[in-house]
Amino acid sequence: MSKDFMFASDNPAAATRPLSNAAPPWLVLVADDEPEIHAVTRLALARLRFRGRAVRLLGCASAAEADRVLRDTPDIAVLLLDVVMETDDAGLRLVRTIREDIGNTAIRIILRTGQPGQAPEEDVVLDHDIDGYTAKTELTARKLLTTVVAALRSYAAIRALESGRNGLERIVRATDRLFVPRDDDAFAAELLAQMPGVLNAAPHAVLRRGDSVIAATGRYAAGAALPPAAADALARALRSGVCVVENGTLEGGDNGVDGGVDGGVDGGVDGPLDGAGIALPVRTPPGGDPGDPLVAWIDAGRPLDATDHGLAELYASRIGMAFANLRLTERLREATETLEQRVAERTRALEEANARLNRLATLDPLTGVWNRRRFLELAGAELARARRYGRHLGLFLLDLDGFKAINDRHGHAAGDAVLRAVVKRTRAALRSSDHIARFGGEEFVVLLPETDGDGTAVVAERVRAALADGPVMVEDRAVAVTGSLGIASWLPEEPTIEQTLRRADDALYAAKRAGRNRVERAAG
Ligand code: GH3
Ligand code: MG
Ligand code: MG
Repeated sequence: MSKDFMFASDNPAAATRPLSNAAPPWLVLVADDEPEIHAVTRLALARLRFRGRAVRLLGCASAAEADRVLRDTPDIAVLLLDVVMETDDAGLRLVRTIREDIGNTAIRIILRTGQPGQAPEEDVVLDHDIDGYTAKTELTARKLLTTVVAALRSYAAIRALESGRNGLERIVRATDRLFVPRDDDAFAAELLAQMPGVLNAAPHAVLRRGDSVIAATGRYAAGAALPPAAADALARALRSGVCVVENGTLEGGDNGVDGGVDGGVDGGVDGPLDGAGIALPVRTPPGGDPGDPLVAWIDAGRPLDATDHGLAELYASRIGMAFANLRLTERLREATETLEQRVAERTRALEEANARLNRLATLDPLTGVWNRRRFLELAGAELARARRYGRHLGLFLLDLDGFKAINDRHGHAAGDAVLRAVVKRTRAALRSSDHIARFGGEEFVVLLPETDGDGTAVVAERVRAALADGPVMVEDRAVAVTGSLGIASWLPEEPTIEQTLRRADDALYAAKRAGRNRVERAAG
């Protein structure tokens, strides 16, 4: 191959010109067993700059060596690959190894062959994941340059897609954590801790509200001052959203990506990465806390591009949503707590009122036994049971003897005390299954489920004896009490307890007539 086919650089020194500090060079690997090819490729690409970055050539003379280099250096952008090296198809085999074994889908591969007949172009391009297939004889310097630029552009696009996808994944994962409810301080701390990682930036970040630092990491936690351009960037971020600082100057809303080959950007003495970073507003929801909004500064630590800017904007909006969610959760929790408290208070008040009403409706306030209404309910239920199961049901009425005279002699309050004492003595003489109620005045009724006439008589006699067993002490006065009792057993032909009660009342009347302090059984 004649050297004339290749573009011979008229300025070989360009290949050694210092590279921009801004960004690492693009790596291009030449795999070819002809040393001359390495030389002409170097000459052809020496002056190439793409998107402000120079090209650095790596070289090797065999597919095996290329395999090693590729495994060690994952960032190689373009591979200029000879087909025939150790074997007739060494290059073609290497293509498969790169895509399938190494799993590198980003690197662009341009095959170059000295023997075009060896592998027909159409077949090779169809069968292999490559970006071009050229005869070495066709490859002029200009053709080589444009081929490599096209490959670099594809590679950059693929890497941008990859970093965009990775960035999206990081944002989603990281901001999901922000949706866990917590207080503002914890939220700010979590936010700042995750920011550099999410943006794939340097671990130096600071979160500010106005002039005060809310949280800081890395060198800012150690008290380092913000780079000079940061102040403007933070102000601008608060006005109009994410602001990216590149090269120590505001890059603003433009994405800063220029396509094509440029003539060369010389880096300054200071690396342009000094002072590069992202100013990111943290939009708090309206109606939230008063005071200035939050804004974060994150050191870039690497060149930033349009993808970074877009990701930062997306991240900022997700943070805003998380913050709004935090506020909403707080309000909801407060509202729920208040509501629960009120419901609990109301419920308690209602339960108390109910209990009071229930007592009033069923109990005799003076003695605490059932009242007449409740007694009739209980009796109805017991009667139904006795009827259904063919059981006995007994009852007796108890009327105190000469109670008017007790009132007259000792006063109404003493009479009340006597009534309570009577209830106490009576209860002690009853069984737990018996029901006692105040029927009215100084008259009580006792219902005895599952008890026949004889059984009822035994209990009634026990009650009479208990009452008559010594005087009741009211303050320091001894008051003798007796009662007269009328017993009746429910008869199956009696439809309600009223009939039974009437017979008991007759018996009670008989007891009174017979001299009081005694038990009489009703007929039947
Ligand atoms: P008897 O032996 O014939 O039953 O005579 P008694 O005096 O017991 O009967 P009477 O029906 O003449 O009088 C009942 C009295 O009971 C009249 C009433 O003032 C009194 N009394 C009714 N309820 C209460 C009460 O709640 N407290 C008090 N202290 N006295 C009551
Ligand atoms: Mg009486
Ligand atoms: Mg009476």
